Amino acid sequence: MEPKYKRVLIKVSGEALAGPDKFGISDEMLQGVAAQVKEIHDLGVQVAIVVGGGNFWRGRTGQSIDRATADYMGMLATTMNAMALQDAFEKQGLSAVLQTAIAMTQIAEPYNRKKAIRCMEEDKVVIFGTGTGSPFFSTDTTSALRAAEIDADVILLAKSVDAVYSADPEKDPSAIRYEQLTHKEVIEKQLGVMDITAATLCMENNIDIHVFGVSEKGNLLKAVNGEKIGTIIR
Ligand code: UDP
Repeated sequence: MEPKYKRVLIKVSGEALAGPDKFGISDEMLQGVAAQVKEIHDLGVQVAIVVGGGNFWRGRTGQSIDRATADYMGMLATTMNAMALQDAFEKQGLSAVLQTAIAMTQIAEPYNRKKAIRCMEEDKVVIFGTGTGSPFFSTDTTSALRAAEIDADVILLAKSVDAVYSADPEKDPSAIRYEQLTHKEVIEKQLGVMDITAATLCMENNIDIHVFGVSEKGNLLKAVNGEKIGTIIR
């Protein structure tokens, strides 16, 4: 079967890399994500990845540290995940390039849009670390921005939950599970699947978002093949 998408931007949340305690990197989760990326790469799909940092640090958690400083710390957290992903991809036999929006040239290349596109065309997986490089943003917004820049067909939002719900299904058993939503509904209902800045950027640039749980093996492949899993936002 021909994959539905030719070029995808995968957003992996920090939490999706963590184990049951929701902190740090679980080797099983990391290798699982890498194996799923290999599966779609082998189909000829061009892959770029933005990874979050919430399994280590989030800037918005009310600590006494100045918000901008806390956000820069969050961006460093994304880079740890990005390096782990790069390593896991290489162990799968994939060629993976790490680009960061904050220069750290000993461990990553500086972000360069045209080079990122060229790398994808050369079958390399491109990982974007340090978010946008600016505080007060999120890696969801980074995903929307990079997806627009590299002209991705879709954002594949790989989460620890399996779809978009009206409330946290772990806390509220009556939470509604959505199969399809518009960007406007996500914003108006404040569904929390992504922040409003990110959802607005996707709406303005007509970027579809496919949300699904990444802990289940084969889900990334299903999403790329256009199968009905999780939630589609379009
Ligand atoms: N962050 C930032 N600017 C960006 C992207 C991320 O300041 O462009 C910081 C912010 O503090 C955020 C943290 O990095 O809380 C980790 O990213 P995010 O919360 O998006 O990760 P996720 O929740 O997806 O794991």
